[in-house]
Amino acid sequence: MRKEKDHRNRIPLYAKILLGMGLGIGFGFLAMALHWDDFVHDWVAPFGTVFMRLLKLIAVPLVLVSLILGVVSLKDIRNLSRIGLKTILIYVCTTIIAVSIGLTMVSLIKPGRVFPKDKQTEFMERFQQTVAEREAQMQQVQDDSPLQFVVDMVPENLFQALGDNSKMLQIIFFALLFGVALIVVGPSKVPSVVRFFQQLDLVLLKIIDFIMAFAPIGVFALMAALIVDYAGDVGIISALGMYALTVVLALAVIIFLVYPTILRVFSKKKLGQFFHAVFPVQMLAFSTSSSAATLPLTLERTQKHLGVSEEVSSFVLPVGVTINMDGTSCYQAVAAVFLAQVIGLDLTFSQMLLILATATISSIGTPGIPGGSIVMLMIVLDSVGIPIEGLALILGIDRPLDMLRTVVNVTGDTTVACIVDDTK
Ligand code: ASP
Repeated sequence: MRKEKDHRNRIPLYAKILLGMGLGIGFGFLAMALHWDDFVHDWVAPFGTVFMRLLKLIAVPLVLVSLILGVVSLKDIRNLSRIGLKTILIYVCTTIIAVSIGLTMVSLIKPGRVFPKDKQTEFMERFQQTVAEREAQMQQVQDDSPLQFVVDMVPENLFQALGDNSKMLQIIFFALLFGVALIVVGPSKVPSVVRFFQQLDLVLLKIIDFIMAFAPIGVFALMAALIVDYAGDVGIISALGMYALTVVLALAVIIFLVYPTILRVFSKKKLGQFFHAVFPVQMLAFSTSSSAATLPLTLERTQKHLGVSEEVSSFVLPVGVTINMDGTSCYQAVAAVFLAQVIGLDLTFSQMLLILATATISSIGTPGIPGGSIVMLMIVLDSVGIPIEGLALILGIDRPLDMLRTVVNVTGDTTVACIVDDTK
């Protein structure tokens, strides 16, 4: 069905997204050279914002409906708890591996040793304000009880939860509750409720098709606006070159070594098929910097192109978007050790272990939105006594690295969906 459609449209989705990205980057540089900044802000960037909004708009109803259907198709609560436990276990393991890779790379390359000292004062002054704002957010997170995340998972009002994209865990909670109740009642007793969700799912998937038809334009606009925004920041990029390279290498190891290895061992999927299916998802993650906004496409590609069953993908992926962030956790480890190196703080082995633990836990609490991990990174820094003001040094280069770590985040979720499905 999908193949026929691709054939009819001739150009496959990944090529269209890639084209949009390429043209957007090219146009961004052209606009920079011709000083069309205002034109890009006023007339191009809004298309990117509209695209992001459409993706976010569909994410909440999609998670709700597909998760309910996923639970119902498991037919048995024992299946649900088995799959649930396995998923969470694999997520934690992949995160620990990711953080360890980050720690190893940053300790070997030592990017903090080559950071120019004069830039330190310059960046501190420049990003002071942003750091202060994030610090206030961090304070709030730290003041909460350690069990606050459990409390936060339970919505007190369904419609409030549905009305707030950052409450994805609450929506997952409700969907699980509803799905379990449906199984216990027995789908045969309430066939119209089940049919309602099945039909709703069809309509939502069609809406995703519509949104994806707009993807090349949306991605074009996002990339063009990004290039123009970054115009004056070449100095930052060169000062932080070694640091960026360390992050890129660590993320590359995860994507090209870790995931393929665990897919080979635990899944029947061919690597070629896997990367072909996940490529458009990666491109979208790269252009939007948001794994939550990418979720509709991740679900579609995982089900239709990787053949992962609906019951597994519709559980594993929404949960993964919220709690599994391998790219983010790896990045947090690199960032923390880099800042320690810059200020000449020698971290002990137990401090490294503390970073491993806090980066793993804090990536679970990171929302799948652009720059979602900054506040959580402060908690990691704080845990080993690195001054959080140091964040100012790396904020300038956060966006491009965010794009890359989001690519890893969505690839990790898809990898785990394949494994859970194949070892069901
Ligand atoms: N942007 C990332 C994501 O959406 C989160 C982060 O690392 O900031 O997955």
